[in-house]
Amino acid sequence: MNKLQEILNHNQSFLENKGYDVYKTSKDPNKKLVILTCMDTRLTELLPKALNLKNGDAKFIKNAGAIIMDPFGSAVRSIVVAIYEFKADEVLVIGHHGCGMSNLDVDKTLEQAMARGISPDVINTLCNAGINIRKWLQGFNSVEESIKETVELLKNHPFISKDVSIHGLIMDPETGKIDVLVNGYEDTTL
Ligand SMILES: [Zn+2]
Repeated sequence: MNKLQEILNHNQSFLENKGYDVYKTSKDPNKKLVILTCMDTRLTELLPKALNLKNGDAKFIKNAGAIIMDPFGSAVRSIVVAIYEFKADEVLVIGHHGCGMSNLDVDKTLEQAMARGISPDVINTLCNAGINIRKWLQGFNSVEESIKETVELLKNHPFISKDVSIHGLIMDPETGKIDVLVNGYEDTTL
């Protein structure tokens, strides 16, 4: 049985058993929170449990490294929509130790892509079109610095209202322990 079929089979029994009943909630985040975090699989259940977040409590935006690459890209757009459309009034930027985007080896990623049939010509063509694939793929040297930069970017964003508190946190992906890097209430970087 393939993965999709397994998922569909489970879905059918989930519906039959009304597994959804315990997850019923509204579109507005109950805790008025929007969270930008990493797609790391270790955080999938650990992060909400460690922060006492249940279905309906927060809007989650996830990507590789909890990085904002473009101030007007989809991550910030999602945060803006969460604030103005869904009444979120605090933002948590949550990175984590041992992140895959820390010191990501771009050469290795490109090698893997080519081994899977991506032509080197594609990279050259994109380069000629002004798209810097290396920059696009690269992560960060320090997750702490990356989180602080992201918080600064959001604090200074022209479309994010100043009454929104923006915090920077770092999580241990094994234990769920949180350390505060930026306390958005005090507006100080720790
Ligand atoms: Zn990560």
